[in-house]
Amino acid sequence: MTGSARIRKILILGGTAEARALAQKLAGRADLAVTLSLAGRTADPLPQAVPVRSGGFGGADGLEAYLRAERIVALIDATHPYAAVISANAARAAEIAQVPLLALRRAAWKAQAGDNWSEVATVEDAATALGEAPRRVFLTLGRKELAPFAAAPQHVYLVRSVDPVDPPLAVPQASYITARGPFTEQEDRALLETHRIEIIVAKNSGATATYAKIAAARARGIPVVMLKRPELHHVASVEKVEEVLAWLDHVSAPSTARGV
Ligand code: NAP
Repeated sequence: MTGSARIRKILILGGTAEARALAQKLAGRADLAVTLSLAGRTADPLPQAVPVRSGGFGGADGLEAYLRAERIVALIDATHPYAAVISANAARAAEIAQVPLLALRRAAWKAQAGDNWSEVATVEDAATALGEAPRRVFLTLGRKELAPFAAAPQHVYLVRSVDPVDPPLAVPQASYITARGPFTEQEDRALLETHRIEIIVAKNSGATATYAKIAAARARGIPVVMLKRPELHHVASVEKVEEVLAWLDHVSAPSTARGV
């Protein structure tokens, strides 16, 4: 085989810093044609080192059809740990289309001495966990997940999101910060102090980019209402970009090289 016949097509399901880093590592590979898929949630996504497609596939069936039509030889699910639907779709589509799948999943943060976390299963539970008495709350969930806090209008909210929250939260007292991580602990400590934050609502995203608020909360003795991670399909998974590279070299190698 020569030229383009050797090029193997890889699909990365992205939306995370890890997916971006992986794409960066693979961008220079002459033997691979890598596409990164984004949900299309962010108005101004960061530039990527490989071609990007954006928007849903149309469920597991749509993703399966895409894998077949594009002759994808390996699928990497590097989506956010709370993006459970696309991960389930990836598992199903890969199985049916018989495309090798590897998940790149960040380890969850673990509470350490000084942390004061209460875990909740849903955003509605998080709103309830804030309690009856008015508090100053730092909300760091996705901007599309905020609606349940309208049921707790007694609190003063500070919302940080990548894109503006539109429409705004239906509560009398809310202010907004539009910002994309990574954030430093110093920045987040200052934010908590300036806004006199008394409690934080967060997802256990893992990795470092958004950990600063957790460390800052610990330093200031502020409690965190932590949304539990969703249960994900059990598929082969790794935590580090380098491990994906090793897996890819194995699964996307020509079948003769794999001895099958
Ligand atoms: P989701 O609930 O797992 O996915 C919903 C649908 O979005 C999927 O069924 C799929 O549509 C589409 N989709 C998701 N990721 C995609 C990708 N990489 N490429 C193409 N289509 C994709 O995920 P979500 O609605 O994006 O987010 C769920 C949770 O994850 C939220 O808590 C959110 O804040 C968090 N999160 C997501 C991202 C992200 O980039 N997606 C980033 C940070 C945080 P079809 O069924 O039509 O294929």
